[in-house]
Amino acid sequence: MSSLVVRNIGQLLTLRGPARPRVGGEMSELGILTDAAMLISDGVIVSVGKDGQVEADGATEVDAEGGVVSPGFVDAHTHPVFGGTRVDEYELRAQGASYVEISQAGGGIMSTVRATRAASEDELFRQSRRYADWFLKGGTTTVEAKSGYGLTLEDELKILRVIHRLNAECPLDYIATFLGAHSIPTEFRDEPSEYVDMVIHQMIPKVWPTGLAEWCDVFCESIAFDLRTTERIMMAAKEAGFGLRMHVDQLSNEGGAALAARLGATTADHLERTDASGIAALADAGVQPVLLPASVYALGLDHYPDARGMISAGLAVVLATDFNPGSSPTTSMPAVLSLACTHLKMSPAEAMTACTVNAAYSLHRGDQLGALTPGKQADFVIWGVEDYREIPYFFGVNHVRSVWKEGRSVVSGSPGLRV
Ligand SMILES: [Zn+2]
Repeated sequence: MSSLVVRNIGQLLTLRGPARPRVGGEMSELGILTDAAMLISDGVIVSVGKDGQVEADGATEVDAEGGVVSPGFVDAHTHPVFGGTRVDEYELRAQGASYVEISQAGGGIMSTVRATRAASEDELFRQSRRYADWFLKGGTTTVEAKSGYGLTLEDELKILRVIHRLNAECPLDYIATFLGAHSIPTEFRDEPSEYVDMVIHQMIPKVWPTGLAEWCDVFCESIAFDLRTTERIMMAAKEAGFGLRMHVDQLSNEGGAALAARLGATTADHLERTDASGIAALADAGVQPVLLPASVYALGLDHYPDARGMISAGLAVVLATDFNPGSSPTTSMPAVLSLACTHLKMSPAEAMTACTVNAAYSLHRGDQLGALTPGKQADFVIWGVEDYREIPYFFGVNHVRSVWKEGRSVVSGSPGLRV
């Protein structure tokens, strides 16, 4: 049995609380222990408490040097496997072109689809492995990972196999989502309904039995899949056995939030344009909103989702990066925390809850991840700050000192408090 004790923790963010996602005022309660220690055995937390009261005979000692210790981030919305980059479009957008204009000119998602189809499984693995390191170095220990840049059965399965291999070979944990309905591929532009039929009748029935994805997602938007089509695809996915996550109300309010509520989706993601009636529908159905402020920022837009309205309505808000090569090229959860505090007017504590315990519940992993309490998996970050609020406050600086996955060090050597 291997034991580890982390001592001299200035602030231990336990996120202790009820065994469900946190809502309303609960989102401000991080369960902070000061001058704390945490004992871990075989990758699982055994006890937390005041340093000096935690007994740890024979355990390896780690000194947190008075810094903050938090749960590893759970990033509940990412697109981390793709060929190429979109750095050319990034430059075009800097010169004034809009995301929709670029998409209509054959760029956007389709340019990534072409590069992803052309790449071998090994090439995709090597490229994605680099991003896995970035996630870990930013304090993220689990990601939800969507396919969606293949848009043929073969290419979608290729991406899902890469996600499976990343999960097996990298310290980062991946939870896979099938996103065959990400965009209508160019070859079906004249007959989009044929592509929809293919997703429903060929892809969903063939992807589910492989076990390579547990969730299914649809990009519900006027430039992608309309409300009625989204409903048909989601119904087929639900019938097959998938859990449902949905991209809705990003660029326009199409009533996607209400549809997510009606379908009993686990999450509704984006929601930049969702209004009060959409929020009320999500609240009635217990759907968790996954907010992605980095995509608003990176597109140069200013219409952020109504996080305050959602928290007031009792929604268990989640924050995620939306890491993808077009609209959100960042793996950094600290950057998302900063955006959430500055633009969504969430408090640092609410933001921290949103990307740990609430994110874990949105992926049905709340019993193992997202909190540092006895029985939970020992996925945690030691930060080079004494006050957790400095993580979003001193933005653009990586404060991560070390990252631990199931009690094992996976990132180390970053500067601490005593430099
Ligand atoms: Zn997305």
